Amino acid sequence: MTAKIIDGTAIAKEVRAEVKEKVAKRVAAGKPQPGLATVLVGERVDSATYVRMKQKACADLGMNSFHRPMPIDATQEEVEALVSELNADPAVNGILVQLPLPDHLDEEKVLQAIDLEKDVDGFHPINIGRLAQKGREPVFVPCTPYGCIYLLKKAGVELSGANAVVLGRSNIVGMPAALLLVKENATVTVVHSRTKNIEDVVRNADIIIAAIGMMEFVKGDWVKPGAAIIDVGINEKPDDTKKRGYRLVGDVNYEEAAEVADYITPVPGGVGPMTIAMLMANTLRAAEIQQD
Ligand code: NAP
Repeated sequence: MTAKIIDGTAIAKEVRAEVKEKVAKRVAAGKPQPGLATVLVGERVDSATYVRMKQKACADLGMNSFHRPMPIDATQEEVEALVSELNADPAVNGILVQLPLPDHLDEEKVLQAIDLEKDVDGFHPINIGRLAQKGREPVFVPCTPYGCIYLLKKAGVELSGANAVVLGRSNIVGMPAALLLVKENATVTVVHSRTKNIEDVVRNADIIIAAIGMMEFVKGDWVKPGAAIIDVGINEKPDDTKKRGYRLVGDVNYEEAAEVADYITPVPGGVGPMTIAMLMANTLRAAEIQQD
């Protein structure tokens, strides 16, 4: 194996330690504890787990969390009314509406109802719009793509002028990751399910961000020697040696790609831990914007 591993677990720990220290300093200086409100509509098991992880991170870092569960049949008006209430609450610095919302709710309208300065998930259409515009800056950047770029920078990967390929164009990962790379002056190609000759596109990339949710999709011989790989995918690969019957793998064939690339993130332990770390960083920044 030639690639250097970008250790997301260690880097996320550093980010969290920095946030914790800054929070403690603020509180020692008499400022209120930063607070994150989590809104969970319905009882999806995976969403409930993510929300609990975010609440725990708040507790670990000395921040308040306010959990506001809503029943699965909550109406658009009820969800938007809750968001308005949280917008008006000075103890709440960040509002996180856990996605996906049940189908009967209009996600865009709910996200639009969040105060821009409390949009710590960075999904408000104005924040995303600013991300896409030259010379404009979003107040917050979506946490997973923010984590991807943070990892690349931390590893010392040159972004300006690099050829970058983002696999996936979802609203939460692929597209904002591509927009962030453009802001960093990379030349970006976005690959999706209709893209032809994906291998050839990937072969040209100095930077690969893979976020399609397809197990070990990117093969080692697609990777340009010296490339940097950020693997966002989380897939369950059957594995009889594991008690639960599977192990987690990414969208890139790690063993193959690590022989060719210069940098690679493992799965698990790469991008995964960064998402919550960046959410915590965004929540602290929200408190600074609102209180300083
Ligand atoms: P998503 O919404 O399902 O989007 C998947 C994207 O991949 C779409 O743009 C789709 O193209 C594209 N795609 C699907 N099959 C493809 C193929 N065969 N060739 C090329 N492109 C293909 O997924 P997501 O929410 O962005 O998540 C992607 C992966 O990241 C998942 O494994 C998810 O679990 C993981 N994830 C991890 C974190 C984290 O670590 N913190 C956070 C979020 C997501 P079309 O647009 O054409 O359909």
